[in-house]
Amino acid sequence: MQDWPLWLALAVIGALGYLWLREGWRTTKLLRWMVRDGEGPAPIVQGPLAELAYRFEKALRKREATRAEERGRLQHLLTALEAYPNGLLLLDANDQIQWLNHIAADQLGLLVERDLQQNIRNLLRAPAFVELMQREEGGTVIISRHPLQLQLTLRRFGDGRGPAALLLVQDVTERMRLEQMRSDFVANVSHEIRSPLTVLTGYLETLQTLPLSDAERQRSLQQMRQQADRMQLLVSDLLTLATLEGAPKPPPDTWVSLYALLQRCHADGQGADQGRHVLSLENCEPDLHLSGNEGEWWSAVANLVGNALRYTPEGGTVHMAWRWLEDGRGEVAVLDTGPGIPAEHIPRLTERFYRVDSSRSRATGGTGLGLAIVKHVLQRHGAELVIESQLGQGSQFRIRIPKHRLRHEGVMAAA
Ligand code: ADP
Repeated sequence: MQDWPLWLALAVIGALGYLWLREGWRTTKLLRWMVRDGEGPAPIVQGPLAELAYRFEKALRKREATRAEERGRLQHLLTALEAYPNGLLLLDANDQIQWLNHIAADQLGLLVERDLQQNIRNLLRAPAFVELMQREEGGTVIISRHPLQLQLTLRRFGDGRGPAALLLVQDVTERMRLEQMRSDFVANVSHEIRSPLTVLTGYLETLQTLPLSDAERQRSLQQMRQQADRMQLLVSDLLTLATLEGAPKPPPDTWVSLYALLQRCHADGQGADQGRHVLSLENCEPDLHLSGNEGEWWSAVANLVGNALRYTPEGGTVHMAWRWLEDGRGEVAVLDTGPGIPAEHIPRLTERFYRVDSSRSRATGGTGLGLAIVKHVLQRHGAELVIESQLGQGSQFRIRIPKHRLRHEGVMAAA
């Protein structure tokens, strides 16, 4: 060292210092880049630092790729949940909405963008729902959001960090309506059977306990017969309805003569009416055929003719008519000069047991199921029932038959 000239020693020290400072500066830059999670290009470094930077960047890119993949998977899952046909919400531990699909938003009257992060308890105030949210174990309630009936199912899960509850929203309006209809139906049937049964039991008791004259005895038996007939008619109509519900679709390629069918309904009506009304028929072309179930078609037309005869006062007229409609369909109409039906009742006439005037219906042997049977038969054949009526002037019941169910002797009417 003593032999080194001073300038050389200084130059070496200077060079070492420069190298040391440069490496220090590069190390700092590298550290800053690492702290920024590899944001931007990697600083230029050499030697072991370069190896470190390389490995760090590689690990970083791998982590990013994994994250992107996870994000993609999550997005895929959310898209799938969006397509789920029921409403779905994810809530956090404080019941704030973390995610919801559009169906849930529509059902609950929420807006996806506006209501994210809102506490669901502030948005839905139905008492049953408030009570559900208080339950630790979750559960199911039904709330009413006019016109919908919604079933809400709450399932709590997780450790309190991520979403903490799943809220499932199902539209059960139709199910509730059907359940209501079924229980109404059972109540109606019970009521319809109980009335004649009560009368029957009353007469039985009278016969058993009171000494009756022959005439009184005959009257009682006649009344009992009437009630038994009424029950039989009811059971027979109920069976018809049940059969219609369970039966396979009427065949599209079984053809019956419409001409003969209308003639038969006319003759049956006349036979039952015994001249109390004028019953006329304007029949279709003799070669016109109708496809489907003959018995069902007959019961539909016969029911309309029977009703017209029962509700039209004696001496009135019932007219059965056929015509082609402009759109190619055909129409069988039963027109009467009876009392007519108030407009507000018309949309409900085909409901089971719906009657405009209960006493008149029962007095004439009605079960309240006739038009329900007609509607069912027509639906099964793709036909339509149109009812028009003017109070005091009579009613018109029109069966509109689709053109593919009509043909002339093997030639399609529509062709
Ligand atoms: P019902 O066995 O009581 O006749 P329907 O289902 O056949 O039952 O008819 C339902 C109701 O529609 C009847 O109770 C009656 O009030 C009314 N109705 C049906 N047809 C006529 C008609 N031609 N004229 C007046 N009212 C009718």
